[in-house]
Amino acid sequence: MQQGNLLNWVEISRRALAQNVLRFKTHIGPAVKLAAVVKANAYGHGLVGVSRIVLESGADWLAVNSIEEAEQVRAAGIAAPVLCLGYVPLSQLEKAVRLDVRLTVYNPATVERLGEIAGRLGRKARLHVKVETGTNRQGVRREELPDFARMIAGYPHLVLEGLSTHYANIEDVTEHRFAELQLRNFSEACSMLESQGFSVPVRHTACTAAAILFPRTLFNMARVGIGLYGLWPSKETRISALQAGVALNELEPVLTWKTRIAQVKPVKSGETIGYGCTDLATQDTRLAVLPVGYYDGYDRKLSSIGYVLIRGRRAPVRGRVCMNMIMVDVTNIPEARVEDEVVLLGRQGDDSVSAEVLAGKIGTINYEVVTRINPLLPRIIV
Ligand SMILES: *Cc1c(COP(=O)(O)O)cnc(C)c1O
Repeated sequence: MQQGNLLNWVEISRRALAQNVLRFKTHIGPAVKLAAVVKANAYGHGLVGVSRIVLESGADWLAVNSIEEAEQVRAAGIAAPVLCLGYVPLSQLEKAVRLDVRLTVYNPATVERLGEIAGRLGRKARLHVKVETGTNRQGVRREELPDFARMIAGYPHLVLEGLSTHYANIEDVTEHRFAELQLRNFSEACSMLESQGFSVPVRHTACTAAAILFPRTLFNMARVGIGLYGLWPSKETRISALQAGVALNELEPVLTWKTRIAQVKPVKSGETIGYGCTDLATQDTRLAVLPVGYYDGYDRKLSSIGYVLIRGRRAPVRGRVCMNMIMVDVTNIPEARVEDEVVLLGRQGDDSVSAEVLAGKIGTINYEVVTRINPLLPRIIV
């Protein structure tokens, strides 16, 4: 294995990722395109490596957040359709057109500038209009939609390819009235544009939770992120799926975050551990020092409450998480040695540290746990 000289790294299971793509492909059916959401460095899993695998496994499009991410994907030689979900500054729009990136649009200034650029370059620019249906994040309000569509139609090189929206309250609840309302608003917006002579070929509203729970949100494309990485959007989504008898097989987490022990040492009963002397050895203790800290994305709130896996067993974090190091208690793992492999997140032997467990300990969601793993750490595909 090439991992021999690594100290702090992330392993990505090609098999688990490919399986998850297949599960979603099967679930949404052949009439619905799968846009794999690879924003935020593929949810911390590594943008380019993940993009290649999901496309090989049957994903149709990639969805990124920024023009920089789109650029990285194209620089890697990936020619698949790429949709940019986030805002692209006016100064970067020419680059977007040259890279043939589909843009999510909602500002007249963006359309104007794109119309001018595409005309000058003699190239088509494909736009996806985000419709405001109740999230009150990005989007064009429905009453402004016809004028917005007419504006796009006024530029010969602009193509109104897509209409999209995003749900506000689908992961957090097991009762989905608000999502139903947003779906109705979106369908009305589609009909309104149709009645005014606009035909928009690609319609997409579903994130992972919607794709799992509501076939009516699929239209002809789904934007699936967290589920492809083998993580559930929330406990509520899982409960709703069980209640509805959704036949989506188990998702398998794709990511394992590893490090190695840098030192093993005894600490005497009564001595304190780490910065602020916040932790106390109440018995003679063996500590292992690990070369990972909050800089790497190991949250400081895990101080004295996190745990890692060494030789398949749990070693609790002792004292504060430092910038580049943590200390863990290996008193009950007497075989622990310098350079033993340590799992910070993922499975080792019969036990695992899940993103959900870490998220629960620090008051956040699994999405934040994985996306905040420092992008500079190597991602190794295994
Ligand atoms: C991030 C994002 C998604 C993916 O959401 P998941 O819950 O990870 O599937 C879909 N659509 C938009 C607009 C997003 O920003």
